[in-house]
Amino acid sequence: MVDALARLVAGGGVVVLSGAGLSTESGIPDYRGASGVARRHTPMTYQVFTRDAQARRRYWARSHLGWRVIARSAPNEGHRAVERLQRGGLVDGIITQNVDGLHTAAGSPQVVELHGRLDEVVCLGCGNRTSREELDRRLREANPTFGARVAAVNPDGDVDLADDEVARFRVVDCTFCRGGMLKPDVVFFGETVPAQRVARCFGLVAGARLLLVLGSSLTVLSGRRFVLRAAKLGIPVVIVNQGPTRGDGYAALTLDAPLGRLLPTLADRVAGAAVGARDHPPTPGQGDPELHGGRG
Ligand SMILES: [Zn+2]
Repeated sequence: MVDALARLVAGGGVVVLSGAGLSTESGIPDYRGASGVARRHTPMTYQVFTRDAQARRRYWARSHLGWRVIARSAPNEGHRAVERLQRGGLVDGIITQNVDGLHTAAGSPQVVELHGRLDEVVCLGCGNRTSREELDRRLREANPTFGARVAAVNPDGDVDLADDEVARFRVVDCTFCRGGMLKPDVVFFGETVPAQRVARCFGLVAGARLLLVLGSSLTVLSGRRFVLRAAKLGIPVVIVNQGPTRGDGYAALTLDAPLGRLLPTLADRVAGAAVGARDHPPTPGQGDPELHGGRG
């Protein structure tokens, strides 16, 4: 199976769509995946966050603790292997559903962070952006005695926390417009991804020779739509994930394997194929028959 994947990737023109499963080996559990812990509370929605002060306090209290885990996480062998494939000219673009910034931390340029980044904060009042580091400093100052034990952190950077601990947490507001509501610059459930960002992703998919899904169960349409688009365009889809995904029916190949082990092996096998891929860019309709055999 790895050989089949290597043959496909060696042809270049790969666009990667990554999800939480790629970051589990960096210590950020994938709550939907086989290796993940079950989530005990439903994810925050944009509507609840903006309308319910109590829910917002709970979110920030959890997120304040979860951030410490996210902030000290580092790219794993999987992220590094993707960067190697990109540097070798085989990967043309990366779309990630992850908000942990680990592709960029691994050195990958121009990653499209579909759902934003946890290390950035936006004011919903004035639009001012600040770093999470700065907010973290302010939250620590406002909550000097707050330090509940973290049992488990979720991929979007929050933790489970008792109600009495939440009740004594103090939320801070924007200092720029003095009072604007702050939100991590990530796309919440119930919120739409900015249209320009989606268009950029569709552009990447349309120009791809292969869509490689890494560590996503494709549960959320936000990511799954790129698989659907690729399938519609006759672009082959390969899915590497631990456990089944909602895109398996569209995949030319599916592999169930830990990404931190599989991706370095893949990168080793296809090393050196970059020159060939660059000298002979794929032409629509004239690609590898193995890839485009089912097309039109
Ligand atoms: Zn503001």
